[in-house]
Amino acid sequence: MPNSVYDCIIIGGGAAGLYCAARLAKTFYSNKRFLIIEAGPRVGRKLALTGSGRCNLTNTDIDPDKYNTDDPDKLVSCLNRYGYTETSDFYENVLGVVLEKKGSLVYPSTYKSSTVVDALRFFISDHSVETELKERVESISEEKGIFEIRTGSGRTFLARNTVIATGGITYPSTGSTGDALRLLEQLTEEPQVIPFKPALTSLTSDISGIKALAGIRCRGEVKLLDGNGAVKDQSEGEILFTKEGGISGICVMDVSDTAVRLIDNGDTAVKAVLNLTGKSAGEIFQMICIRRQMYAHRTCADALSGMLLRSITEFVMKQMNLKCDKMTLRDLNDKQIAELSNLLCAFTVPVTGYGAADKAQVSSGGFRLSALDDNMQAVGLPGLYVIGEAVNCNGICGGYNLQWAWTSAALAAEGIARNV
Ligand SMILES: Cc1cc2nc3c(=O)[nH]c(=O)nc-3n(C[C@H](O)[C@H](O)[C@H](O)COP(=O)(O)OP(=O)(O)OC[C@H]3O[C@@H](n4cnc5c(N)ncnc54)[C@H](O)[C@@H]3O)c2cc1C
Repeated sequence: MPNSVYDCIIIGGGAAGLYCAARLAKTFYSNKRFLIIEAGPRVGRKLALTGSGRCNLTNTDIDPDKYNTDDPDKLVSCLNRYGYTETSDFYENVLGVVLEKKGSLVYPSTYKSSTVVDALRFFISDHSVETELKERVESISEEKGIFEIRTGSGRTFLARNTVIATGGITYPSTGSTGDALRLLEQLTEEPQVIPFKPALTSLTSDISGIKALAGIRCRGEVKLLDGNGAVKDQSEGEILFTKEGGISGICVMDVSDTAVRLIDNGDTAVKAVLNLTGKSAGEIFQMICIRRQMYAHRTCADALSGMLLRSITEFVMKQMNLKCDKMTLRDLNDKQIAELSNLLCAFTVPVTGYGAADKAQVSSGGFRLSALDDNMQAVGLPGLYVIGEAVNCNGICGGYNLQWAWTSAALAAEGIARNV
């Protein structure tokens, strides 16, 4: 076999591609020829944005139920074989990244995503993994066990094993433009793929006056209801009101995958029911009644300011046609307090749509997990591996998506190690 044939070419130098290269490098030191082909001017561009620049790289509680995939059983087996323990061991003891926990969320102790990108970058460079930057792979074919990979600049690369690690469709400015499906379609007439869609995204609404809350964050809960009023998903955490007049924040993003599916299946009456207090309506009723005794003379906005954000009191009372800066708390009767409490704890937002791919944090869809073997090798396409967001497996916020990138990459590296 000529020297110009790489043992493995990884297409895409994002989280999954870099980790796969690092795992291969750890196994083989510099004895084999590995190459990353990356479309962008540098590797790990999306990884550098993660966790608001702090990189929530995994979670001590990696629960398969927090993912959406076409093959939940295989996901369980993948995460059991390579999960939080194996990942944190590799980061701390091989890549030299000190980790720190915030609850179950795991970050580099520097709280800088560049620490993670650099650790991967330095390790693969130390082990002579080659990198071609600014080369977007346009086509791929296979003959007699050798893959021929061609880039937009007209260059051709040959490999015995190929890993598709091109990510999904979100934040396309980082280089992830959904190429996996196009490349896979070139290799088989029946690609086992599900179209990419945004997940972990915002939800839009045209509810009157909601834009006044733009930028406001509060801790609460969201329940997602379908058009028949059935609860289809729920989550708790931060709710953020967007400047476009919608809702986002961690708990809204966590239910957005379900919302996208309902909307795209033609449900025009999806609703998000927000608890803007994190408490029950009964508790809020009691709290307001106590304040009515203590601060009866104050305006509602002033009297409630110790327990509610002023803009939220104003917005919710406006829905009741009441002016919170004109009425005193003694003006509110029990019935009105009960209505206010109910609204604060179950505010219904009709969902008109969802944030596009450029605003979403992760994609659903990709190569079916059920069409990959236990080492992420495409069934019927020996030597071809698919990892990371290019696979139909997406999780909620909290380090689950990067954990999938590390898990799938490590399992692919294990499979490739048997083939080279
Ligand atoms: C703002 C933001 C914050 C996030 N925060 C977190 C977080 O804190 N925790 C968490 O778990 N997840 C987080 N995620 C999700 C996480 O970043 C992704 O799930 C993860 O990066 C996916 O890794 P990947 O390697 O599969 O894809 P990517 O990281 O998208 O990498 C794909 C790479 O392939 C390259 N590429 C694409 N097509 C080609 C081609 N044809 N030829 C050559 N190269 C190509 C791209 O340029 C890119 O570098 C966040 C996402 C975003 C957008």
